[in-house]
Amino acid sequence: MSAQETSKAIENKVKNLLSQMTLEEKVGQMTQVDIKVIGNIEKQHGRAEELIDPVKLKEAVVKRHVGSILNTPFTPNNEALSIETWRLMMRTVQEAAEKTRLKIPVIYGIDAIHGATYTQNAVLFPQAINMAATFNAELAFKEGEITAREVRASGQQWNFSTVMDIGRQPLWPRLWETFGEDVHLATVMGASYIKGHQGDDFSAADKAPTCLKHYVGYSYPLNGKDRTPAWIGERVLREYFLPTFEAGIKAGSPTVMVNSAEVDGIPGHANYQYLTTILRGELGFKGIAVSDWADIERLYTRDKMAASPKEAVKIAVMAGVDMSMVPFDFSFYDLLIDLVKSGEVPMSRIDEAVSRILTVKYQAGLFDPKPLLPVEGNFATAEAIAANRQAARESIVLAKNDNHILPLKKDANILVAGPTANLLSTLNGGWTITWQGAAEELYPQEKLTVLEAIQEKSDGKVTYVGGGSFDAPIDVQKVVDEARNHDVILLSLGEHPYTETPGNIETLNLDPAQVDLANAAMATGKPVVLLTLGGRPRIITSIAERASGVILGFLPGMEGGEAIADILYGDYNPNGKLPISYPRNTNGITPYDYKPIESFESNVYDPLYPFGHGLSYTTFETSGLKVDKEKINIGENINVSVNAKNTGALTGKEAVLVYINDVAASVTRPNKQLKAFKKVELNPGQSETLSFTLTPHDLSFIDVDLKRIVEPGDFKVMVGNETVGFTVTK
Ligand code: BGC
Repeated sequence: MSAQETSKAIENKVKNLLSQMTLEEKVGQMTQVDIKVIGNIEKQHGRAEELIDPVKLKEAVVKRHVGSILNTPFTPNNEALSIETWRLMMRTVQEAAEKTRLKIPVIYGIDAIHGATYTQNAVLFPQAINMAATFNAELAFKEGEITAREVRASGQQWNFSTVMDIGRQPLWPRLWETFGEDVHLATVMGASYIKGHQGDDFSAADKAPTCLKHYVGYSYPLNGKDRTPAWIGERVLREYFLPTFEAGIKAGSPTVMVNSAEVDGIPGHANYQYLTTILRGELGFKGIAVSDWADIERLYTRDKMAASPKEAVKIAVMAGVDMSMVPFDFSFYDLLIDLVKSGEVPMSRIDEAVSRILTVKYQAGLFDPKPLLPVEGNFATAEAIAANRQAARESIVLAKNDNHILPLKKDANILVAGPTANLLSTLNGGWTITWQGAAEELYPQEKLTVLEAIQEKSDGKVTYVGGGSFDAPIDVQKVVDEARNHDVILLSLGEHPYTETPGNIETLNLDPAQVDLANAAMATGKPVVLLTLGGRPRIITSIAERASGVILGFLPGMEGGEAIADILYGDYNPNGKLPISYPRNTNGITPYDYKPIESFESNVYDPLYPFGHGLSYTTFETSGLKVDKEKINIGENINVSVNAKNTGALTGKEAVLVYINDVAASVTRPNKQLKAFKKVELNPGQSETLSFTLTPHDLSFIDVDLKRIVEPGDFKVMVGNETVGFTVTK
């Protein structure tokens, strides 16, 4: 069947099914509950059969017609389960659905954020900020493929990933869940992940629907704290925050999750303009808008927007939320039934929401389930682990390398110090095995920390002192004493894992104990290589200035320890580039695509490391930048070409970044904006001509009337040190 025929057939099936449903069955479909609602919470570590309470399961799925369940057992101590347990549990849930009158399957949703987070031993990739640093869309595609396969092998059906929020507020504790500060980069990486995850048809046994999060404006809280107000005007919203969602919709993602906070005074869950006028009317989204955790009732309990829980349900449903992540009771179900009965919510709105939900269930093949993928060959395969290690290697940024301190000699004696060196959790961050990712004892013991990976490779002496964990006081004196017996100090600093509100901070400054450790290490006079791990750019300026080498590791995932050791010893030539501007000071958070006024008179863009920065053990040069026409008409493409050459002595990869600037415009334009990139591998002396096509969309912006336009006038194209111009005429 062609895609068109399939969609017509699904439309008919949905209509037919909907016509048989009672109000209760419909509202049940719109209800999503946490597994705790059906769980035997005494049995956190029990066998699969014991984790679900059959009476509660029947109450939820058969009596209340619940259409969706989420999460791993059991909040607040939830954690990953074995794949066998998941498979059995998921079967139990579907068996309950089969006992309902209309046998509508339950769709089980899970946060598989950098891989199948909640399945033990899953392949856990670098987090999104690292994936962005690879500037390699093929790796994002691979991550999507592997994640979908492992999610489906676990019996789960819907992945609450990927985050399409733009990371322009570095204090925000979910910065690392984004693909960084640039719209184009995030668009390409996010769309590629979705295509890998869903394929052409996400009913396939190894594919699953994705979810675009968190629509829209969630990532830009003014004060940096999670779930606090964003002040985003409509022009900025359209230029910086909507395009990634638009791209995700085009890439075929059938679900969005709603912004848990508020923009311009309107909570995400109450925003009709965003959820209906723009999402449906303009972006043409046809899928499910699911609420975020408890956010409908929060319109009453937190936002004081609704005068009662019932009014909260009415506001959210009428704004365009199709499914409520309630999560712990049936209040949404009861209240919405009342609202329909009293005529406050029209049946047409219910039918619309339920049609969307049933459509996705048909598209995902849930009505005609394929046998589960065998675990063998589909889960934690050697090939997937190798892809993960490659992603990790390409995601690490070598920011400084004075006097070729790196790569280290294999026989160098290395003193390792600092709290992030010997933990797997500091490589992975939140959404790893548990929500906060901090349960080190649950991590797979065979995976290597940075320290362990160095020990494996080293032919010299490796000593670890100073900062065995984040909690233990750092014995600075030991570092000083040991330094004299070693050639180099690897100072491994950064953050402990976190996500969401538990990760809120007041300053980007590093923890003072780590600064003291760094100062002591520097005072020894031994060369210091600084390695940072963590989800945000914590301020390292004075340390980085004195260190000989700096590696920004962010959250490189489960193979991150090995990948870092590969780079430290030159077994891999680094090529990651910063997907954010790394601030010099805690309030210096100007992004790279700043406006002219931000570099006017005494204002300067002066990060510690700019967006796109990243060194290699070889050198590259770009030259011969050309555009194929000096003049184009509005609506035409322009082709750009440039030669990239490896001018050093080692094979390496280089991401070539193409920026443009609209020289004069009716709305102020960024000094430059990334519009295209390509990563190439080149041998010493080898060069390659790279071609790019810039489309009218690349030249456009949101005008005074909030419409996307291309204005006639001059444009600049910039690659490396070169700039060429062209003119757009009417
Ligand atoms: C987070 C979402 C997540 C959801 C379900 C929320 O608290 O904001 O990103 O998908 O929980 O776990």
